Amino acid sequence: MGYRIGSGVDFHQLAEGRDLWIGGVKIPHHKGSLGHSDADVLLHAICDALLGAASLGDIGQHFPDTDSTYKNIDSKILLEKTVTLVRDKGYNIINIDSTLCLQAPKIKPYVPEMQSVIARICGLTTEDVSIKATTTELMGFVGREEGLVAYASILLERGV
Ligand SMILES: [Zn+2]
Repeated sequence: MGYRIGSGVDFHQLAEGRDLWIGGVKIPHHKGSLGHSDADVLLHAICDALLGAASLGDIGQHFPDTDSTYKNIDSKILLEKTVTLVRDKGYNIINIDSTLCLQAPKIKPYVPEMQSVIARICGLTTEDVSIKATTTELMGFVGREEGLVAYASILLERGV
């Protein structure tokens, strides 16, 4: 049985006038993530962890921000494409663990919906999709609400 671990991290700036998409869920807030796509920091970290676990490079390689195809794209589509790449290489996803770092808003009420969106795309149960959140105790760019960060870890197994 072959197991493969992967880790991913992603950062985005927060800006007025942008939607805040996290984990495939639109969260009401006066600021949103700035980026070429919908800038979903959690889905991007998960994509990178999946690609890393399968030694498939990184998200920028597969979905370059210089390609207009990906302008304002729904990151759920990027995650679907990434899951296909990983499965085509012969791997199944076992579980996902992740941590979001942001000062505001509180995302706890949205976590169950994020878990079900991600579980559906990855073919997992919500029990297999862990999403944790922390502030940085007002320190640094996260504390100043200039940006947000997501970390993800993934375990894959080679399919039978
Ligand atoms: Zn990103």
